[in-house]
Amino acid sequence: MLAVHLPALPETGLLPVHVSGATRSGPRCSVPRYIATDGQLRPAKDSHRLNLQSRTDATPTLRIIPRDQHIISRKNISKAALRVLYRLNEAGHTAYLVGGAVRDLLLGLQPKDFDVATDATPDEVKRLFRNCRLIGRRFRLAHVVFGPEIIEVATFRGTGEEGGEGDRHIVDGRIVRDNIWGTIEEDAIRRDFRVNAMYYDISDFSVRDYVGGMQDLEDRMLRLIGDPNVRYHEDPVRMLRAARLAAKLDMQIDAAAMAPFETLGPLLADAAPARLFDESLKMFLSGNGLKSFRMLEHCGLLKFLFPATARALRRGDDALRSLVENGLANTDARIHEGKSVTPAFLFAVLLWGEVRDVAHQLIGRGVESNEAWAQAAARVVGEQCQRVAIPRRFTFTMEEIWSLQPRFEQIQRKRVFRLMAHPRFRAAFDFLLLRADESPAMRELGQWWAHAQQLPQDVLASALPAGGGAGANDYVPAPVAARPPRPRRRRRKPGNKSGSA
Ligand code: ATP
Ligand code: MG
Repeated sequence: MLAVHLPALPETGLLPVHVSGATRSGPRCSVPRYIATDGQLRPAKDSHRLNLQSRTDATPTLRIIPRDQHIISRKNISKAALRVLYRLNEAGHTAYLVGGAVRDLLLGLQPKDFDVATDATPDEVKRLFRNCRLIGRRFRLAHVVFGPEIIEVATFRGTGEEGGEGDRHIVDGRIVRDNIWGTIEEDAIRRDFRVNAMYYDISDFSVRDYVGGMQDLEDRMLRLIGDPNVRYHEDPVRMLRAARLAAKLDMQIDAAAMAPFETLGPLLADAAPARLFDESLKMFLSGNGLKSFRMLEHCGLLKFLFPATARALRRGDDALRSLVENGLANTDARIHEGKSVTPAFLFAVLLWGEVRDVAHQLIGRGVESNEAWAQAAARVVGEQCQRVAIPRRFTFTMEEIWSLQPRFEQIQRKRVFRLMAHPRFRAAFDFLLLRADESPAMRELGQWWAHAQQLPQDVLASALPAGGGAGANDYVPAPVAARPPRPRRRRRKPGNKSGSA
């Protein structure tokens, strides 16, 4: 029982319950059945000439799906993307909507961004659009900017084996620069998954499928283009993309694409930490966080991206699993409701288990509590940032959320009001609610604070012990199970301040 009882709320007398165990499975997107499976078939025009086999072990075979046999409508394509497509077309270039946008539109989903592929070079694109800037070294791209919306325009990329225009740089099998222009067929087989290599043609509204993406959509199967070993060596982040897209699209990862995860997962350690940060946000802050997390675990990839999270979960703490899963489910729910979310809260959730355990270990060894939490946070954040570059502004907030947790146990008037006024109180309180499954006492503590916030200030103040001096006897700390044993303090002899002889 908590030492300090609060009066019932004036209106309802009920305690609000904030922790939601609900998980959103998200819309199940089914492939529209009326996609024709017998679209026109003809061999890709250049496939006999290109030595495509050696790079991706894939031979493109074009299937054209005419407008009346697919569901993509211009109504669902952003106006900005349509303008870019038409403008390139009018200037005599071929231009297609490509990648995730085509895939999502075929699944009846609203794409998150619209990418364009063209035979125009980045410089030619720049000359056509005043609102265009060229970006990227690894991949040179044109960004055409329409207010908040950016349409990414990429020139068809080649395999480089026929000595195409541009340059490619490979180090230890990894592509570090890739600016060789090519044909649409080459561009198709350089993409990652077959479902990501379909092109919507603005000139006749057909869909061009070079590698069997339509079939995979119907099978709900993510298949990699080419040899998975080669493709993951080229870019290990493709493994994470497999997990993310499978979660987002409710698809399975093909066995051949999944098989190398265990042996090639360690390659993720060499991926750029800033890129892994972006990829983590796409995984966890796009409304499919819980599904992505479960998929990462299922595929055995979690340990390569968040080693501390995987370690803490392996120690078999059910309360920690429910904290992580509820945290992700709540984040998904907020995103679906259009509410704001912060990466700091997400990473605080993912790393909590390890931080808490390290802090408890240090306290067990006699380190003072505040110091122990600070050291634990620094250690865990330091390790994680070597993989995933979490910017300082977020790690700072994470450390605040963690370090405020012990302060929720101090139910004294001044301390309660001081904590409520803390700029990070709300996030820290939401975090406290996620810890409800750690113990009944923790759940009760969360409910106490939820209730306290609903009360008028004067009512709350009069219910709280003053704390300090004589009043300190009124204060009994909130009981928290699983609190680490406190190291016994040695009493100093009176007059011996330094403790030395
Ligand atoms: P999302 O729905 O998250 O936007 P997406 O597949 O569109 O998914 P993007 O990062 O927008 O992902 O990439 C656009 C397209 O670029 C992909 O569909 C794919 O064709 C290609 N692509 C992206 N990343 C890679 C990669 N690492 N290797 C090969 N092709 C890639
Ligand atoms: Mg996309």
